[in-house]
Amino acid sequence: MASAKPNPDLDAVVAGAGPNGLVAAVRLAEAGLRVLVLEAADHPGGGLRSAEVTLPGFVHDLGATVHALGLASPAMRALDLQAEGLELVHPPTPLGHAIDAGRSALLHRSIDATAEGLGRDGRAWRGMLARLSANWPGLAASVLDPTRLPPHDLGALLGFGVRGLWPASLVGRAVFRDEPARALFAGLAAHAAVPLGQPLTTGIGLMLGGLAHGVGWPVARGGSQSVADALVARLRSLGGEVRTGHRVTALAELPSARVVVLDLTPRQVLAIAGDALPARYARRLERWRYGAGVFAAHWALDGPVPWADPALAGAGTVHIGTAEQVARTEREAARGRHVDDPWVLAVQATVADPTRAPAGKHTLWAYCRVPNGSTVDALPALEAQLERVAPGFRERVLGRHVMGPAALEGWNANLVGGDIGGGATDLRQLAARPSLSLTPWATPVPGLYLCSSSTLPGGGVHGMGGWNAAGVALARLT
Ligand SMILES: Cc1cc2nc3c(=O)[nH]c(=O)nc-3n(C[C@H](O)[C@H](O)[C@H](O)COP(=O)(O)OP(=O)(O)OC[C@H]3O[C@@H](n4cnc5c(N)ncnc54)[C@H](O)[C@@H]3O)c2cc1C
Repeated sequence: MASAKPNPDLDAVVAGAGPNGLVAAVRLAEAGLRVLVLEAADHPGGGLRSAEVTLPGFVHDLGATVHALGLASPAMRALDLQAEGLELVHPPTPLGHAIDAGRSALLHRSIDATAEGLGRDGRAWRGMLARLSANWPGLAASVLDPTRLPPHDLGALLGFGVRGLWPASLVGRAVFRDEPARALFAGLAAHAAVPLGQPLTTGIGLMLGGLAHGVGWPVARGGSQSVADALVARLRSLGGEVRTGHRVTALAELPSARVVVLDLTPRQVLAIAGDALPARYARRLERWRYGAGVFAAHWALDGPVPWADPALAGAGTVHIGTAEQVARTEREAARGRHVDDPWVLAVQATVADPTRAPAGKHTLWAYCRVPNGSTVDALPALEAQLERVAPGFRERVLGRHVMGPAALEGWNANLVGGDIGGGATDLRQLAARPSLSLTPWATPVPGLYLCSSSTLPGGGVHGMGGWNAAGVALARLT
């Protein structure tokens, strides 16, 4: 793609050093292209950045923290970032779900142990997840790379599609009889970040549950920043360059390159490249809808979270709330309304990775869904939910750091209104992400590609948007 300033030393420019931008850069560099990544923030990584935001010695993941998708992603597996020193570490239990004080459900790596804990719903749990968990490579590849022809695993894709299309609210009520299994499943499905009455929410629940059994829900030793650092190290070893503190404001300012990849969401793409886009494609991006936001908080703790149910001590991730609270929070946030008692998604990373805090101390990361752009302080609601299932929690707090929607967007312009998924992930915007095509990463402008979570397959640290954007770009260069 030609632009204003010719540069004979460059083949590709990537705007945005999130996981998708960095994976795109690495794949292009591996193919022999000379690549420059321009990143607005002072550190590369986008949603992978970690920092000591509460107290010295306490490392917090400010965006993504659980790397189940990364562990299963065909792109991340092909890149083998362990060779750059990345270490993913597992908590004893992937997921706990605290319903109320003393009542919880546990999702173990072992499907048998999980089923046993769910009592009379154990058989149904096994029926829903056993095959998907056993065939996690086929499941992950098919779901994260859905436009590939022929599909990675047609059987897995069909099996997943037939069950996954249903709304999770319906499936939860129809399949499970008791609150623990219903709440556990609702929490998994709510990662879809849309109301549980919407189609495909069951698919998100099945995918994340299948991965919890299949590969686990690990965190990165030292913080998620180490995933970004490994990608940057790989890129540099291939001759690529990352320039931080450089916000791209217009396509015309970019050095000339045959390939330009934007790790940005439609609103930013329009601001930067709007003039270059054909009117029809620009209108499609203008109609892009962002989803509900999140209100995130980070705590430095004097000791472990004092869970009322001690079984939660070994769970890396803990979901908090009844099945009804999970459904109501997601429904109301999508309608632009707050609830006083939101369901909460918490991660106690130090259970798996004690290096993130001084000896004997812990960190906690949590968020709840709020309306897009909300300015309401949700910290009291988050802490009330934690206190409900972990009495004495507040007494353990040494330091706090909160990031509501505006702070999140200020930290990373891709998080529009606090939406952490790059745009609402309802059926329409999943089918056409951001446009209906077998190669949705390509724009109508030759040489210009999109790769952010606003492209297929959507949010999460899997790098597949970047991997496929680079793949399409390389195919079109030859
Ligand atoms: C609070 C939170 C919790 C999350 N939890 C998880 C989790 O546990 N597991 C998981 O898999 N995913 C999680 N996610 C989602 C995950 O972080 C994202 O889906 C992922 O980072 C998207 O990658 P990306 O490369 O598309 O964009 P991003 O990671 O958002 O990166 C975009 C980059 O572009 C830069 N940028 C923006 N505008 C410009 C510009 N004009 N010029 C130059 N650079 C620019 C930004 O600074 C940023 O570095 C979470 C996200 C958040 C915010």
